[in-house]
Amino acid sequence: MSLSQLARSIKESATLKLNETAAILREKGEPVIHLGGGEPKSKAPIDAVVNCATQLNTGDIKYAPADGLPALKKAVIRYTEEHYNKLIGPDNVVCSSGAKQSIMNTLYAILDPKDEVIFPAPYWVSYPEMVKLAGGVPVIVTPEDGTFHPTVREIADMVGSYTKAVIINSPNNPCGVMYSRDFIAELVQLCEKKSLYLIMDDLYNRLVFDGKAAPNCFEFATEPIDRSKLVLVQGVSKMYAMTGFRIGWAIANPELAEAMGNIQSHQTSGPATPSQWAAVGALNGVQSSIESLKLTLENNRNVMVERLQTFNGVKVTKPDGTFYCFPNFSAYMKESQKLAQFLLEKVRVVTVPGKEFGMEGHLRLSFCGTIKDTMDALERMKWALDPNAPNELYLGERRLVRDWL
Ligand code: PMP
Repeated sequence: MSLSQLARSIKESATLKLNETAAILREKGEPVIHLGGGEPKSKAPIDAVVNCATQLNTGDIKYAPADGLPALKKAVIRYTEEHYNKLIGPDNVVCSSGAKQSIMNTLYAILDPKDEVIFPAPYWVSYPEMVKLAGGVPVIVTPEDGTFHPTVREIADMVGSYTKAVIINSPNNPCGVMYSRDFIAELVQLCEKKSLYLIMDDLYNRLVFDGKAAPNCFEFATEPIDRSKLVLVQGVSKMYAMTGFRIGWAIANPELAEAMGNIQSHQTSGPATPSQWAAVGALNGVQSSIESLKLTLENNRNVMVERLQTFNGVKVTKPDGTFYCFPNFSAYMKESQKLAQFLLEKVRVVTVPGKEFGMEGHLRLSFCGTIKDTMDALERMKWALDPNAPNELYLGERRLVRDWL
């Protein structure tokens, strides 16, 4: 079979693949704990469900404008005013099938072949593949000081004549670190000065702990939205636990938004209308679910970090937000894929290898599951890795004997 060069250059989504592996093992009755997940356990807000069900009950589910239902755009405009203190209009908004498609639309609309897109490591697994899909070249900035926080100087040093855009995800998947206000301010200025697009992937910006709040990129923009190269990406997936509805949106200047809408009109004709009505319900409804999700996640984060600190030699950076932690396990095994495979084989814990996020030696561990699962998984991992741990461990009825250290 002959596949295109493009198809051959694109890797499978490592995280989705892990979901599959975990599901297959579970079906076989294996006691798998999934720390690889990327979605909260909680249910969609009732307002989302009711609004969607009301539309479904009419039985009248038809095409909608390709860039989003007017009602959803209206809700997004209101949300942006409330949470970003930014006034925008309907021609600044493109609603898509998840934030993923919003990012993809942006890249398709701005990249010419060989154009470069800069983003820091660790990065979300899809960025390099998305840039390649759009014909561009990913350029990765790895913070030199060994932290997860790049400097604006490190990014500026990578800017060249082919650079078209910078992507920033803060708080960050996979490490949970939130970039500082000064960093965001200086980066907005740099991109304005160099006339670069700045794609702010703010998907997790409401899931921030310790009473902190994520910096608002619009605060530092000096150009009016209608001329700005700042693109804000948001969505309902994480903050409202609505991953399966597949609704996200981008806010951009009208020319870019129109181009993105045109591209989308030939791909999907727009997101599914029942899902859009669900998103309208979530955005306009009672907002208490975000706060309670945040509190649950903060508690889970504390438990995970505390337990990880008892592992000898593991370096843990406390996540500021998201539901991911990205400890450095290189004291145990340098190759993260081998380590993840080992943990799955020996103790049936699913983790995501750091290599997928551009940083070897680390594992991404999600704390969006139950506290019990989080604690059990870390106990199993500690048992598997710590030579001083007792020789036996029980997984339910099953007795495991450690014969590898
Ligand atoms: N950006 C980041 C950083 C993500 O983690 C994800 C989802 N894992 C997305 C975008 C895509 O989100 P959605 O489900 O809305 O497409």
